[in-house]
Amino acid sequence: MADDRKVMLVTGASRGIGAAIARAAAHEQYDVVLNYATSSDAAEALADDIRDLGCRALPVQADMGSEADVLRLFAAVDQWFGRIDVLVNNAGIAGSYGTVDTVDESMLARLWAVNITGPFLCAREAGARMRTDRGGNGGAIVNISSKAAVLGGSGEWVHYAASKGAIDTMTVGLAKELAPFGVRVNGVRPGLIESDFHDVAPTGRVARLVPTVPMLRSATTDEVAGAVLFLAGPAASYVTGTFVDVTGGR
Ligand code: NAP
Repeated sequence: MADDRKVMLVTGASRGIGAAIARAAAHEQYDVVLNYATSSDAAEALADDIRDLGCRALPVQADMGSEADVLRLFAAVDQWFGRIDVLVNNAGIAGSYGTVDTVDESMLARLWAVNITGPFLCAREAGARMRTDRGGNGGAIVNISSKAAVLGGSGEWVHYAASKGAIDTMTVGLAKELAPFGVRVNGVRPGLIESDFHDVAPTGRVARLVPTVPMLRSATTDEVAGAVLFLAGPAASYVTGTFVDVTGGR
């Protein structure tokens, strides 16, 4: 029976939005691969919670800014599950906080590596395993972008917004490239979500920006997870190359 269960890989699943996605996936009876960078205790605790729901959970430390680590992550997926049905490219960093004066070559290189190169390499590995013309069962890739890709991030992190713009373009292109082979590719653009992500900014960023949100509030990580699970699952069987904004209208 276990072999009929679907497997979802969530990058950056130890905290924040990724952890909420992993929990929601377990509630929908996915087995879950929990990638993380450094938070091993949080990833192990989440894995225990998921097992309590009757699902298999595999925490895997791997730096999404490293191709060797991406390959090791997918080797673990192959070894433990032998299949992948959903990839959620969620791991992401903000880089420096401030105007364009704050950027330098090393910060940008790390930002592009984690936010762009990692998702590309994960999509390559997942797509190769999912494609029906290569013996796969099809599948879904959900890329966690940001509304910043559209708004631009001015004064705070244009560099971060630009990295998410690249993810949006990747989503549109890969959706067309992989559609004939049973792989759907979509994006979720969160707005102002309560998580540690804002820690790089001065204290109070979320409260300061709430008045710019038409719904006049920030969102929980669970509210992002709902959109991801929709795009990952059968209710979105004819949906590819598009985006769900989870922004309260922003
Ligand atoms: P978060 O609370 O800071 O969590 C980040 C997660 O990514 C953690 O699990 C972290 O692992 C992992 N991670 C960071 N660098 C990694 C790396 N090099 N390799 C593997 N994992 C790595 O952030 P979040 O708010 O959940 O953000 C998740 C995604 O949503 C990001 O792509 C972000 O850009 C996007 N987003 C967030 C917001 C928001 O308002 N929060 C808005 C728009 C988009 P460790 O715990 O091991 O460090």
